[in-house]
Amino acid sequence: MSKDNNLNNKTLIIGAGGVGNVVAFKCAMNSKTFGEITLASRTLSKCDTIAKNIKERLSISIQTASVDADSIPNLITLFEEIKPNIVINVALPYQDLTIMDACTQCGIDYLDTANYEHPDTAKFEYKEQWERNKQFKEANTMALLGSGFDPGVTNVFCAYAMKHYFDEIHTIDILDCNAGDHGYPFATNFNPEINLREVSAKGRYWENGKWIETEPMEIMQVWDYPEIGEKESYLLYHEEMESLIKHIKGLKRIRFFMTFGESYLTHMKCLENVGMLGIKEIEHKGQKIVPMEFLATLLPDPASLGERTTGKTNIGIYAKGLKNGKEKTVYIYQVSDHEKCYAEVLSQGVSYTTGVPAMIGAKLILEEKWKAEGVFNMEEFDPDPFMEELMSQGLPWRVEEK
Ligand code: NDP
Repeated sequence: MSKDNNLNNKTLIIGAGGVGNVVAFKCAMNSKTFGEITLASRTLSKCDTIAKNIKERLSISIQTASVDADSIPNLITLFEEIKPNIVINVALPYQDLTIMDACTQCGIDYLDTANYEHPDTAKFEYKEQWERNKQFKEANTMALLGSGFDPGVTNVFCAYAMKHYFDEIHTIDILDCNAGDHGYPFATNFNPEINLREVSAKGRYWENGKWIETEPMEIMQVWDYPEIGEKESYLLYHEEMESLIKHIKGLKRIRFFMTFGESYLTHMKCLENVGMLGIKEIEHKGQKIVPMEFLATLLPDPASLGERTTGKTNIGIYAKGLKNGKEKTVYIYQVSDHEKCYAEVLSQGVSYTTGVPAMIGAKLILEEKWKAEGVFNMEEFDPDPFMEELMSQGLPWRVEEK
């Protein structure tokens, strides 16, 4: 049997939120590669609902299980029972290290979509995941970090630009626009806690070999997004920049911009002013609560936004550099439509654009098209097979050369 048609494979997905739903659907649609699929999460009923929807829509059965991914022994028990070839981690960034450690102890390949964050510090970096490189090499397995859209596809777009369009890339702007409307005055499109921690943090970009810090939302630039139009976009720190500065030749500056609606920004400022974005425990009527966690409980579950979200997303990279001594600019981008995503897999566009690349990364590992030992970021592999899969798996992209 060929490597891309292996029904003996076993795939374990951890996390049954908006992204986990898309990964489970897309793996089931590619079951020739993924073989027997298990979806495990903290709340079993969420896994069962997804499995039921997949059975109804695709006539494919997937298994479900409950797991506490904060506990290495709990993970190992599940891994020994299922014996997966790969673990796709789409729980929260807090679980990255425990799942990575359980994978190396059991000799299993690992993939995630967001870098490790400590629950008590609103700081995300690859340090602790990269430090596990030796551990993965010794276990003869690999970890693919950040296989979502951004990070993920944006890293692959940069590698593709480098491979096919440039001798040297001097500047990269990563542009993330979500022009979707869910009808709520305030809601986040993915896990509220992770989203609000990211957005309320100080901005940062990299220029001439050093990081430059900005106040949150200090730098705004209007970008024109194909199929959407001009949008005010704010400079944020985003994790893919940390690996891209290591791997893209000749880079002098890299920045990340994301669009926000006026209502979102006003709500966020107000919540911040009253202390609702705090991540340290406070006492309330004799009980300890974390304000940000309490806020996340009040906000709509991102997984429930799917059926009410309309509009499009456009995420891409704008690269400038040299080819044969001449200056050139290349813009590579992908547009998704929230309603089309929902019609296909019952999730809105942000979960879709994250879950599809997670499935593609895992598919390339199982097919041994991306195969190595150690810990890797997306741009370290040949971008071509990934770019081909994007075209056929629901995320077609375009290139504009100037
Ligand atoms: P959700 O909050 O919707 O889902 C997270 C899931 O993880 C829930 O099912 C939750 O279980 C489960 N979970 C949380 N803690 C544990 C635990 N200790 N053990 C087992 N399961 C646990 O998040 P999303 O689906 O929106 O996001 C998933 C991931 O995708 C996040 O890491 C996010 O940062 C990342 N992401 C990446 C993007 C990219 O482009 N790279 C973009 C968007 C998201 P329960 O239901 O019980 O709470």
